[in-house]
Amino acid sequence: MTPPVKPEVLQIDDDRPLYVAQRKVYPQSISGTFRRIKWTLMVVCLGVYYLLPFVRWNRGLGAPDQAVLIDLPNSRFYFFFIELWPQEVYYFTGLLIVAAVTLFLMNSVGGRVWCGYLCPQTVWTDLFYAVERLIEGDRRERMKKDAAADPMKLERISEIVLKHSIWLLIAWWTGGAWVLYFNDAPTLVKQLVTFQAPMVAYLWIGILTATTYLLAGFMREQVCTYSAHGRASRQPSPTNGRSMSPIATTGAKSAAR
Ligand code: SF4
Repeated sequence: MTPPVKPEVLQIDDDRPLYVAQRKVYPQSISGTFRRIKWTLMVVCLGVYYLLPFVRWNRGLGAPDQAVLIDLPNSRFYFFFIELWPQEVYYFTGLLIVAAVTLFLMNSVGGRVWCGYLCPQTVWTDLFYAVERLIEGDRRERMKKDAAADPMKLERISEIVLKHSIWLLIAWWTGGAWVLYFNDAPTLVKQLVTFQAPMVAYLWIGILTATTYLLAGFMREQVCTYSAHGRASRQPSPTNGRSMSPIATTGAKSAAR
């Protein structure tokens, strides 16, 4: 009789860190059809996000004329010709289900189309990378500058200051655009510049400026590594079976060159 097989003792290496340490990724700039598609989609996505609050929609006397508006004091959501009340929350549920199914279909048919082209984390990170490349140069130049052992020269310091200033400006613009969806946009802009807007508007702009700056400037691949969609659609890679984020993949491929 064959002796029963003993279950393998699971070896746990206590010295292994819980999280993978961050390794800076230096993506190489690329060109071609897919890059052009990505630039186009980035411009469209950012254009829609920043300009949509200023689009008007006539709903008649007494009703707000902002095409997309989340009217919290009156518990209404306006989207062009649609007006939703709190008791019609099932529309949102339906919309979320449709969005989830569309995402799964997109993934099955075209791979990680959402991650590669449309996810806000990708769009803003790509924009931040474009600024970085414009100021500090392409992959090799950036690597050389980061690895330079000599004390920072004035030229390098001014590059870093300029990059972070533009990043902060984009982040602030992003946070500023978000609050415009919650009030009449032209009125709120006037109030914001004359410091007469409600304190909560400044608070949210501050929070969203900080999160955009951190997520797109510093936590680029980490967001994908730990995001729910990133974990769900994780695929084994040739490197240790660890997954690669769509943002990190570009740099990792270029690192092999
Ligand atoms: S993994 Fe998550 S955060 Fe990263 S691009 Fe995809 S959906 Fe966006």
